[in-house]
Amino acid sequence: EARAAIEQWTGPATTTDGVRVKLLANVGDAESARAAAAAPVEGVGLFRTELCFLDRRDEPSVDEQAALYADALRPFAADGRPVVVRTLDAGSDKPIAFATLDEEENPALGVRGLRLAEHNPALLERQLDGIAAAARETGAETWVMAPMVATVAEAAGFAAQVRERGLRAGVMIEVPSAAILAERLLAEVDFLSIGTNDLTQYVMAADRLASDLAHLTDPWQPAVLQLVAATAAAGRAAGKPVGVCGEAAADPLLAVALIGMGITSLSMAPAAVRPVGAQLSAVSFAACEEAARVAMGAADPAAGRQAVRDVVTARR
Ligand code: PEP
Ligand code: MG
Repeated sequence: EARAAIEQWTGPATTTDGVRVKLLANVGDAESARAAAAAPVEGVGLFRTELCFLDRRDEPSVDEQAALYADALRPFAADGRPVVVRTLDAGSDKPIAFATLDEEENPALGVRGLRLAEHNPALLERQLDGIAAAARETGAETWVMAPMVATVAEAAGFAAQVRERGLRAGVMIEVPSAAILAERLLAEVDFLSIGTNDLTQYVMAADRLASDLAHLTDPWQPAVLQLVAATAAAGRAAGKPVGVCGEAAADPLLAVALIGMGITSLSMAPAAVRPVGAQLSAVSFAACEEAARVAMGAADPAAGRQAVRDVVTARR
């Protein structure tokens, strides 16, 4: 019965008491964007542009970048669905030959994401030119966000560069400092998107690639959830969208808790959309709020999962 509900779910996601939840897709190139456009999603919440360049030795020209981005925007531009494009998140677990510095002692804490732009400002300028050209050419509603933002000054500088080109600007919340400063970041940008994969890594001081640390790199960790909730509350106070685009958004039970915290959109691999949508459509917003409370108050991830499962089952 549950499986049938998932397979038949066509969206949009609405709780039993009528609260709309935006479900979005994570994509990495034109091909995955075309596949995602067929899923019941309202747009793209994370276009990981660095995945277009994993095998490139040299930086593509602005024109070549524009063509690549346009191919990814087009399937969503066709019916007016917005796309959040993330600027290069090169470095650490995603080395890009033409962008990443070599020889860092500790790349996860090194020059990665937006930090590369301070090192090489023209690289970001050219990428933003390519994104803006693709947005113009396709007519796609294009939002642009930066990864690995740690300070208010970084957010303000990035937002100015994006708005100069007529696009909406946001930053990812992946570093604890950014979550702590969410209210001040929101004064500088139009939206926030929480990258729970990296936020968990940095909150828990546990390498996201270390399988021995899986119990720590778990977005159900109450410390992570409290920072997510604080960020969502800041968004609500500012009247600006705060989404989640890490793996946490693809977990149907955790999705219930995230919506209860006031998260406004969930972006995930297209395969996760139906299970998450079906789960959210089976609960009330009050149950989501209760799920948020018990998940944050749990002793550990396992207890949190069980407590949310109990809430969801009781409120069915
Ligand atoms: C994240 O860190 O949660 C995220 C969405 O970005 P990535 O997984 O690409 O680092
Ligand atoms: Mg990340």
